[in-house]
Formats: sequence, structure tokens, C-alpha cells
Amino acid sequence: MITLHDVYEQGNDAVKEAVRAFGARHPLTTDTSATEPDWKAAEKHFTHLIEVIMGTAAPAQPDTSAMIRLAENAAVQLLLALHTQPHYRCPICVKRRRYQL
Ligand SMILES: [Zn+2]
Repeated sequence: MITLHDVYEQGNDAVKEAVRAFGARHPLTTDTSATEPDWKAAEKHFTHLIEVIMGTAAPAQPDTSAMIRLAENAAVQLLLALHTQPHYRCPICVKRRRYQL
């Protein structure tokens, strides 16, 4: 499965920016003046996002590798779409009620 880092490395400028924005939604501390993202948490949540999307796609798509690619693509599209919202929160964080900003 693709990682957030792979997405960043392979993506165009819009994708890179969306990945950075997603990382910024996962601060290392609750101190809002800290700017360093918690990439481990962001990575984990990106993987979880793909799994959630895959779960919903499972019945319609029996080919696993094609399904994973579709889910990865959908997750990247989701980051790109969320990125245009100025104060969005990571859907996985919202689900787990962590990093309430
Ligand atoms: Zn998150």
C-alpha cells in the first residue's frame, strides 16, 4: 500500500501541498505555535483512510490490487479536496477524537 511519503514524492505541486496540509493537521504537541507535524500520526491516518475507503469499495471490486489502487487514488483525491477547506480536520482524527483543534 502506498504511503503518505510516496504520495508526496510522486505527486505534483498540488498533491505535495495537500500532503503538507494533511501533515499540519497532526501537530506533535497541542501547543498551536509548534509547526512541526507529527508525520508518524499523519502516515498512520493516511493508511487508515485508504483502509476505510477500501472497506466501502470491497463488495463492488473483487480484484484486490485494483481495489487498493482505486482506494489509494481516492484517498489522494480526498486530501486534494479537503485541502481547499481552510480549517478542515483529518477525518480519522475526527473519528478518534484526537488532536481536537
Ligand atoms: Zn488524523
